[in-house]
Amino acid sequence: MKKFKVITQKDLPLIAEKLKLDKEQIIDMQAVSAVLPFRVNDYVVDNLIDPSDVPNDPIFQLTFPQRGMLEEADYRRMRDLLASGANKSEVKLAADQIRCKLNPHPAGQMELNVPKLNGEAVSGMQHKYQETVLFFPTQGQTCHAYCSYCFRWAQFVGDASLKFASREADQLLNYVRDNPQVSSVLITGGDPMVMKTKILRRYIEPLLASGLSNLHSIRIGTKALAYWPYRFTEGEDADDFMQLIEEVRAAGKHFALMAHSSHARELEPEVAQKAVERVLNAGAVIRCQAPLIRKVNDDPNVWAQLWRTQVKLGMVPYYMFVERDTGAKAYFEVSLARAYKVFTEAYSQVSGLCRTVRGPSMSASPGKVLVDGITEVGGEKGFVLKLLQGRDPGWVNRVFFAKYDSKATWLDGLKPAHGEDRFFFDRFMDAAPLGSARKG
Ligand SMILES: *Cc1c(COP(=O)(O)O)cnc(C)c1O
Ligand code: SF4
Repeated sequence: MKKFKVITQKDLPLIAEKLKLDKEQIIDMQAVSAVLPFRVNDYVVDNLIDPSDVPNDPIFQLTFPQRGMLEEADYRRMRDLLASGANKSEVKLAADQIRCKLNPHPAGQMELNVPKLNGEAVSGMQHKYQETVLFFPTQGQTCHAYCSYCFRWAQFVGDASLKFASREADQLLNYVRDNPQVSSVLITGGDPMVMKTKILRRYIEPLLASGLSNLHSIRIGTKALAYWPYRFTEGEDADDFMQLIEEVRAAGKHFALMAHSSHARELEPEVAQKAVERVLNAGAVIRCQAPLIRKVNDDPNVWAQLWRTQVKLGMVPYYMFVERDTGAKAYFEVSLARAYKVFTEAYSQVSGLCRTVRGPSMSASPGKVLVDGITEVGGEKGFVLKLLQGRDPGWVNRVFFAKYDSKATWLDGLKPAHGEDRFFFDRFMDAAPLGSARKG
């Protein structure tokens, strides 16, 4: 069976050679990666990155730490520390201090969305929207490669207290059974596709066997089509996954792979296309989503090409997200005004078949908030916002307005329009059991 080679900090010399990095670039990468560790694999480096376009190459930006991700003072501190030959514990101490200032868990998700079973908090799940439960299997808390902007890095650097994790397939089953309003289970991570199919089966099979008529769909969120497509094409484990899809279908449920799909380049390699074809042939649907990231895909033509490629391969464009307020956000962030422009310019150059996509959408505290327009109402320029998902199902599809702000990058930077002093949901959010919930 084909295996990938994991590439981390200690392999910098290899990377420097493959990607033709100069001395300065290597020093930058050493300094930043001491704080924000990277992990990629040889498939990504050899197939998705164009060395002649480094550092601007979008997949290089997507997977490798960049100098601008740290504040200048932090960057210098780390660079000088490394140059001085500091020992491991000194470096770790400095890294922890810098990391502390970054925001590992945006959006209050730890406190707000943990569901209860028989009165007890269930740690490996989140339940925010009526229909859908998120499940975080313990063994799926890593990825084939890390995205440099990912808010989940907090889970990957070894701080156990920050982990959402559950070994409890039983709890998942009991929760879905006890909550008839739940129709969809979304298995997420990390990347659940790092797990062997045998382990995935442990979570999925009970959901099929027990006649849960409320459960209509099972989804797996994954970046593996981009980072390790051989997961779907090589060996018994891949075959077993196709078999599992067929079993979910035979049990009368929808099976969706929620593909994290950032750039059309990821779908160019033959093996990626073969992976897509196999998954579709087994009876799954592949829905595609990704955040809009500066330097990776903040260009309408990149999205238009991405959606066209997805549709051509039989995948379904689903969401364009606004990047959340996580660690290195300043480096990647795109204003809401620009996000709307990128989306609109991309959307207007593709056929209706690509327009199943929705965005740009913020996964914020009250729900998934779509930036649906920039317009003037009653002489006041503003954002037209709409809840695609709501913490309260009564909020879904509700439109509301915010004052225009060319610099705002997130809902909490916006002010209500038309003389109102708060958004309609703020009243309810204040009453939320764990307070603190202006964000996420
Ligand atoms: C995005 C999201 C979901 C899934 O929402 P869909 O609109 O059904 O794709 C579920 N739970 C949470 C917390 C989410 O952020
Ligand atoms: S694959 Fe997904 S979970 Fe993993 S690092 Fe990338 S965005 Fe984060």
